[in-house]
Amino acid sequence: MQFENSREFARQLDGKDPLAKYRNEFIFPKINNENAIYFTGNSLGLQPKSAQSYVNDIMKDWGDLAVEGHFQADKPWWDYHERFAEKLSKVVGAKPKEITVMNTLTVNLHLMMVSFYRPTKKRYKIICEEKAFPSDQYMISSQVRFHGFNPEDAIVELKKRDGEHNFRTEDILAKIEEVGEECALILIGGVNYYTGQVFDMKTITEAGHKIGAFVGWDLAHAAGNIKLELHDWNVDFAAWCSYKYMNSGPGNVSGCFINEKYHNKKDIPRFEGWWGHNKDRRFLMEPEFQPEDGANAWQISNAPVLALAPYLASLQMFDEVGMDALIEKRNKIVAYLEFILHEIDKEVDSTFEVITPANQEERGTQLSVFLHGEGKELFNYLMQNGVIPDWREPNVIRLAPAPFYCSYEDMYEFGQILKKGILGK
Ligand SMILES: *Cc1c(COP(=O)(O)O)cnc(C)c1O
Repeated sequence: MQFENSREFARQLDGKDPLAKYRNEFIFPKINNENAIYFTGNSLGLQPKSAQSYVNDIMKDWGDLAVEGHFQADKPWWDYHERFAEKLSKVVGAKPKEITVMNTLTVNLHLMMVSFYRPTKKRYKIICEEKAFPSDQYMISSQVRFHGFNPEDAIVELKKRDGEHNFRTEDILAKIEEVGEECALILIGGVNYYTGQVFDMKTITEAGHKIGAFVGWDLAHAAGNIKLELHDWNVDFAAWCSYKYMNSGPGNVSGCFINEKYHNKKDIPRFEGWWGHNKDRRFLMEPEFQPEDGANAWQISNAPVLALAPYLASLQMFDEVGMDALIEKRNKIVAYLEFILHEIDKEVDSTFEVITPANQEERGTQLSVFLHGEGKELFNYLMQNGVIPDWREPNVIRLAPAPFYCSYEDMYEFGQILKKGILGK
């Protein structure tokens, strides 16, 4: 499609956008009394207007029913978490019984490593990406040390080539082969948080299995953003937070995928608690643990229903719209943003370098843009003038126009503000 850098053209795109009506289902922060142009849905998604009533329902049930709410509430609390599996399974490409919601992301990855990182003297290494999200680095390092290994030896980081911004699949595969039977686990962020690069999860998972390693994915930047087929890709486990593209609210509960081939397997250890116990017998308080069917066996504590409520509200919308429609709009709005950046770049003397892959198959909603010759003042200018992007050292802004609530006119307007911010100095 031939794009134009004009308000009229952007409005035409909005007029034809089948998801345009969802914009009104979210609450936007205001800057100078106007809805902000919100580019940080990759960090904290906007609040769905419906979330409040889902939370209020629980507050009301708690007031009216107190302990009886566990069974008598409209959506009883004792199995509240079970309302997620089917809807989430469509978002990440899984069977419902392979999905559970519990805890938070880093905690779940630690728990997954209890099950899937069981190093031996010969097979103890973990392959991850260089400059992984800090929490993942700390987590992997502490797991390795917990098992008595030295991180410098046990952690193998995938590297980018000098001067390149993204990882090459061929290099990843070569490294996997090189580490070979010393590799216990491959654990990578499915979408790189800094560049927005999407990893070839199917190919990498296959390569990991070929050398006898488990393969898990941190899907913080992938869930609700890109097409996932966790079951068909034969992924062993994955976990994601829900507050980024999934709009569930700050610090909210994580989703977890555990491949069905590990369900009810005695040789897969796990840390257990009463919520993973056979739910029909949970309140009999028996001494012996009988696991729930499927991924729910990994549940530990009773579910934080007040936190789950806004996640459920948001998931309802994902279910209505479906990932295919979201991805269709995502591809178009990201391409439009990229076009706008190139257009503005011509007028301001080549300032921007998009470091996210240009190929749509290798990226999701986020464009990471290197601002050559510009600094934090430009970011501050944007913030003061109606735009909420995200800043990463040394001088990268990350722009993620979430297809649920960003408009094409937002992209046009952003370009105008950006130009003023650079030329007006
Ligand atoms: C956002 C993010 C996290 C955050 O983890 P929490 O445990 O939810 O605080 C972890 N890993 C990656 C890759 C992330 O992008």
